[in-house]
Amino acid sequence: MKENPLEALYAFFEEETKETVVFDLEWNQNGYAPNLRMPHEIIEIGACRLNDRGEVTDRFSELIRPRLYRRVDKHIRQVTGITEQELSSGRTFPEVFADFARFCGESAQLITWGRDDYPVLRRNLEYYMQPSPFSPPLDAQLVFGFAHFGDAHRQMNLHAALEETGTQLEVPAHRAVYDAECTAALLPAVSAGLEGLGEEKRNELSAILEREKRIADSVLRSRPTHYSVHTDALRDDAVTNLLCPLCGRKMSFAVAWFDAGRDRYEAIGRCEQHGQAHGQMHLKRGTNGYLTMHQRVFLASDDEVKAVSEAYRLFLLTPPAKRHHRLCMEEVRRVSERQNFPSKKG
Ligand SMILES: [Zn+2]
Repeated sequence: MKENPLEALYAFFEEETKETVVFDLEWNQNGYAPNLRMPHEIIEIGACRLNDRGEVTDRFSELIRPRLYRRVDKHIRQVTGITEQELSSGRTFPEVFADFARFCGESAQLITWGRDDYPVLRRNLEYYMQPSPFSPPLDAQLVFGFAHFGDAHRQMNLHAALEETGTQLEVPAHRAVYDAECTAALLPAVSAGLEGLGEEKRNELSAILEREKRIADSVLRSRPTHYSVHTDALRDDAVTNLLCPLCGRKMSFAVAWFDAGRDRYEAIGRCEQHGQAHGQMHLKRGTNGYLTMHQRVFLASDDEVKAVSEAYRLFLLTPPAKRHHRLCMEEVRRVSERQNFPSKKG
């Protein structure tokens, strides 16, 4: 048995960290009437703390009394078994989160399985107007996929990964603290997988994790609209505005929004102070037929700026008839200007 079964994983931690906290969240939602400031409301925080030998030394588990969504979504109830009655006797998010932050301490490296928990946590904190005291966590699911299959995008769910590695752990599934514990149990296998990687692969992983961190620190914005077609939404500044992820100021466009495929718009914004940022936008149709805008903006590396600019260049080279209804903001606006302001009378 090695002294520290997580040694290879430590190399990817923030800095010299002695403690590791694995956490997992459960959240609730109302698909029919979401509050766009907090579409997913955290109802449980579970975590376990590991020492430098990778052993669980402490656990955190608490349900949270919701403020927005009192009814537990049917699917979430089925998966977690959490009932409305249990939640109603819980403490509020600010109270539970304060204890969770104390549990984590100041210098712990946070780990999650998957990349969803941290953005949800940040949005819940923003709703209560609290800044996140944490740096983005390390995504163990991504590292696992990279170490085992050489592919960071190969995502295996937690229980499949336990099976894949032959990790035995007798805990009931899908409550936050148990999922945290399952993730913790997988870390030695994740770390062992990293040991076999050559230097080139390690550098590749470092670069992927660095990008993930920027993405995790994205500004997320959702906004209901009264538009039912994309062309109308793309004409509206309130929908298409890009805000700098660091200072929140409106950015200018280096590349204006264009549909990069799979219904996802991309853009590059420029902040005078903070440089370039990558915007991703999705216009999702609600049950009322209107589009809701969902946007993510994160600081972009030079390579990413180049890649998006190149994709836009190729997009423009494609004749409109062959674009499969993919739109770009600049053309939509140009056309609408022509329609609104017909050429002057001779
Ligand atoms: Zn800025």
